[in-house]
Amino acid sequence: MGRTSVNPVSVLFFDYNKGSNTSKCKISDCPHPIMKGKHSMTLQKHVEQRHPKSYLVLVKEKRRMELADSDSDKDDGFESNNKKLKIGPLDKVISVTKKSLYIRMDKETLLKACTELVTINGRPLTIFKDSGMQKILNPITQSIGNSEFLPT
Ligand SMILES: [Zn+2]
Repeated sequence: MGRTSVNPVSVLFFDYNKGSNTSKCKISDCPHPIMKGKHSMTLQKHVEQRHPKSYLVLVKEKRRMELADSDSDKDDGFESNNKKLKIGPLDKVISVTKKSLYIRMDKETLLKACTELVTINGRPLTIFKDSGMQKILNPITQSIGNSEFLPT
């Protein structure tokens, strides 16, 4: 699976102007500092071709981010797992309101969570067929618009 980490190129070397939809290269003595849009590939190519030294910085930074990223992933999994065990009763963890809430969730996060339930938490795959789990998952998968990825 391809991880889509954020390209730090725009943060490191460019100022984005929303009004004119241009990115300005912050590196000194840049011969062509203004670029249309803010696509990281365009910006990255510019740095690679015009500022080889800064490009090395970018490559280094990207590698650092990737490492930090995969590390924090592991920590997250174990930490939240431990926390849940310590907190105890579910009714303290979940505060129930009757409102419909907009939540931050995407297919990848959901898939990861489901995988974690089985691989790390040791739940059987059949947990996804449980009626209670279905009631939790169905609204989410329906919002995301793809319910076919759950194990059947
Ligand atoms: Zn430049």
